[in-house]
Order: sequence, then structure tokens, then C-alpha cells
Amino acid sequence: MEGSVSEGFGWLQRDREVAQRDLGRAYGFAKREAAKVSDVPRLSQRIGGKEVAPASGTYLDNVNPANGNVLCKVPRGDTRDVDAAVEAATAAQIAWANTPLTERCRVLRRTAELIERDLDRLARLESEDTGKPIRLARTLDIPRAARNFRFYADFLAARTEPTFRRDGWKHLTARGPVGVVGLVTPWNLPLYLLTWKVAPALGLGNAVVAKPSELTPRTADALADLLAEAGLPAGVYNTVHGLGPEAGEPLVRHPGVRAVSFTGGTATGAKVAQAASSGPSPKKLSLELGGKNAALVFADCDLDAAVAGVVRGGFTNGGQICLCTSRVLVEKSLLPTFLPRLEAAVRALKVGDPGDEATDVGALNSLAHRGKVEGYLELARKEANILCGGERPSLSGELADGAFLTPVIVTDVKQQSRLVQEEVFGPLITVQTFADEDEAIRLANGVRYGLTSTVWTKDATKAQRVAARLDTGMVWINCWLVRDLATAFGGVKDSGVGREGGEWSVDFYSEAKTVTMKED
Ligand code: NAD
Repeated sequence: MEGSVSEGFGWLQRDREVAQRDLGRAYGFAKREAAKVSDVPRLSQRIGGKEVAPASGTYLDNVNPANGNVLCKVPRGDTRDVDAAVEAATAAQIAWANTPLTERCRVLRRTAELIERDLDRLARLESEDTGKPIRLARTLDIPRAARNFRFYADFLAARTEPTFRRDGWKHLTARGPVGVVGLVTPWNLPLYLLTWKVAPALGLGNAVVAKPSELTPRTADALADLLAEAGLPAGVYNTVHGLGPEAGEPLVRHPGVRAVSFTGGTATGAKVAQAASSGPSPKKLSLELGGKNAALVFADCDLDAAVAGVVRGGFTNGGQICLCTSRVLVEKSLLPTFLPRLEAAVRALKVGDPGDEATDVGALNSLAHRGKVEGYLELARKEANILCGGERPSLSGELADGAFLTPVIVTDVKQQSRLVQEEVFGPLITVQTFADEDEAIRLANGVRYGLTSTVWTKDATKAQRVAARLDTGMVWINCWLVRDLATAFGGVKDSGVGREGGEWSVDFYSEAKTVTMKED
């Protein structure tokens, strides 16, 4: 299993590189693109408050996966850019750490307001970069980015540190930043996931070097302007762009970076962990990795809510959220009622133009990624049954060659199938049945991942009993994607190491110092 997952990701990376090198061929837009490329804006890196071109002098293409248009040129950063960014961050960090907490929280709060002011612009950037529906970007991604900043502003301002008194001694807890933190983030929820890290890191007095996904770089760049407008001093937030092995790995490895928070695939996470521990000094590491999350649907569930929840959990963002429920486990007696309802709801999803407010499922993140999902369809044809979906929809105009795929339900699939075991990360769910609670739990836990699970039943006692036995970092009962940012977020097994959120982020992005003195 290990090998096949790594192979999957290796193939994707190679394909991306081919796509980057030969955009016209990969997208079938050779003539149109040739005319457009010269007009395409160049993104800069943000280093020490300045817009900086990559040391390599070379750029990658940021392609809109819905229509193949080149949105911008992405700096192809490397070790030299990372060195400059870490140097700038180091120079700016101490003064920022010495800035009163109230001022740091004011900057976070103001950034939240500016993100809300620029909601439409940011949502458009995100939708174009990723292929996701504009409606989703406007209602999920960008509001959550603002909420990340506002939450940590309030949370950090309200916190107090414990004091311990014993035997005539007083032990105070003081808290300071870690220093310079390196943040590496994926393409599926670009600003949402980046700000989940940036907000607590800055609030706690760290300086940041961010390496956003090369496929979706524009909102990380836009954030630099908003932070500066909010009053963040130059050099406290820096960005380096480019490919993972060329820009991400040197950042993670850099001895000046004291903590690394990474969100992305499990195979990449393993490389990040290796690179982060390869230097002479140990560093803090948080890994938010892949998922293969199960929805457990019991016969005594609220059927309407369960069907709606499974569709939402399976196909929001085209199934490209680590928290998506890609495995649906249904109690056998309910299947004849549940499956036709599920199929009808999935067939009703509107696939197409991400710019259309009515669209439910936009484009996948790239043609290469759609190719990966289609590879799993081939497998499903051989060893399972495709109940619906898996076609390239016929769309007109520029969208005709976009990375679209209709949502897929796979049935008659075995637990050991790669369709069940591997993270597809696209609009594809599998349906299996279980006879009883024990079997449901055995199937749910029978994968290498352990990020989330969802339990659908009206029996609250059963739901909590099942939740206690599920090997995942989070369990949702009769709901999906309900998040309180104070709670622990993270996975077990191959879904990650560590937790972020609330106090867990405070722990990660700061160091507690014990100060001991005699009681007065
Ligand atoms: P990815 O692992 O390919 O890339 C993530 C980031 O890592 C990108 O910025 C990339 O450039 C960088 N990178 C690649 N190789 C690197 C290396 N050797 N060293 C350092 N950095 C490197 O992931 P992706 O395809 O962008 O995103 C999809 C994956 O992310 C899925 O597996 C999904 O489950 C996971 N994800 C997890 C969470 C979570 O919170 N658990 C959230 C969102 C996405």
C-alpha cells in the first residue's frame, strides 16, 4: 500500500512538471496561450517587505484549471531565495516579538477586516487558481481566512498563563515566540490553510516564511499587502514561491527556521519530516496530512440529513478537502433505501463553470490531477462498479478543455481495494456495507489514514460509543465540517503528527518558560 500511494504522488509530481514545461501541450491551448503569455503578470516573492524576483530568474505558469489560461508567472524560487527570506525574517523577528501583544492582536484583527473588505477579489483569485466554485470561495475559503485572524486575536488577548505556588516558591509561566517559522501549504484551500498557520504564528511574535503551493500562489501574495496595510512591519511575513523540492525543502531544512508547519500529502510529509530533522539543530514539526475519511451511516439515522451530509462531505470542493468523507459505510438493511437517494442527490450536483453562482462542483485543480482521479476510475471499472459519474462533461467555449469530471459513486468494492485504501482526493466516493457496529468500526479503522470520521445515527449513546472506538483525530456526529477553532485539529496514523487549533497552536508556535522565585 505504501508503495502504491507514493507512486501515485510521484506520478502526479512528474505530470505537473511536464505540464509546467509544456503548458500548451498539456492543456491543448497552444495557440491561444502563445498569444497570451507575454501579457501575463509576474508574481513577486515578498522578502523583507520588498517585491523580489527569483534568484533563478525563471518562472512557472499558474494555470486556471477551468480553461487553461495562464493567470500569472510564478517565481521559481530556490535555496538562495529561502536564505534571503529567512535572513529578513530573522532580522525583523525580535522587534516584532517585543511589540506588545495588544498591538500584535490589533494587526490580526485589522487583517481580518481587510480580508472581509476584499472578499470578492480574494474569492475570485482563489476560484481562478484552484478551479473551485466562486460561491464556495466566497462562503467558505475567504470568510474562514478572516475568521482565523479574528479568532486568534481574541483568543491570544484573553489567555492567561498559570502560576504554581508550593512550599514558599512561586513558579510563573512566561511565553515567548519560537523565532522564525516555515509554513508550507497545499493547493486545495490556499488562503484558508495558510492563514490557519500565519495568524497564530504572528500573534505569538514569530516571523514567518511561507511557501504556498506553486499551483495556487496568488492569495498568499495578496495577503502580504493586507498584512502590510494592517501595520505588520516589513520582514515579519515573507513568501518564497516555487516547486516543493526546490523552494519548500530548503525552507524546511534551513537552520534558521525553528519550527515547520506543513499541510499536504502524506508522502510529501514524510520527506518534510526527514528534511526538517537533517540539520544539526532539532526543530518543532507539525504535519497535517492526507485522509481517507469514513461516514458511518446507521439504519436508525435521519435519512434526509445523512444523504445531504454524505453528499456535502463527499463533494464539497470537488472532494479535494483532506476532511472529505470519501468512504461511505452503510448498514446493510438501509442500503436499498439509502443508495437510490444518494445517487439522485449526486446526479443533481451541477458541474461546470466555477464563475457561475449555481455551480456545485467546479474544475479539479489541474488536468494532471484529473488524470490521477481517472486512473482510479479505470481501477473501478476492473474491480468494482461505477454507479454514476466519471465523465468529462461537455462544456462549451473556454471550459471545453477544463479539468472537469462528474461526481462518482463506486459500489461493490472490497476493503483491500486501492479505491478504499488510497486517498483519491477528487469527486469520488466508495460505498460499502456493514452488518453491525463492530464491522462498521473495523472497516472504518481499516486504512492507514486517521483524520476524521462521521457518524450518522439518532442514537446518541451509540454515536458516542462508536466515536470512542474510531481511530481518527476528529469525529463528527450527524454533521460535517463543523469547526470551533479552539478545538484540536489533526490526524492520527498516516494523517499527521501533532495538533493545531486553540491552545495546541499556542503550544506549537511559542515556547513556555518557567520563572521561579520566592513567594513574597
Ligand atoms: P503536496 O504534498 O503535493 O504539496 C503540499 C506543499 O508541499 C506544496 O506547497 C508543495 O510545493 C510542497 N512540497 C512538495 N514537495 C516538497 C518537499 N519535498 N519539501 C517541502 N515541500 C514540498 O500536497 P498537495 O497536492 O498540494 O495537496 C493535497 C494533499 O494535501 C492531500 O493529500 C490532502 O489530504 C492534504 N491536505 C491535508 C490537510 C490536513 O489538514 N490534514 C489539509 C489540506 C490538504
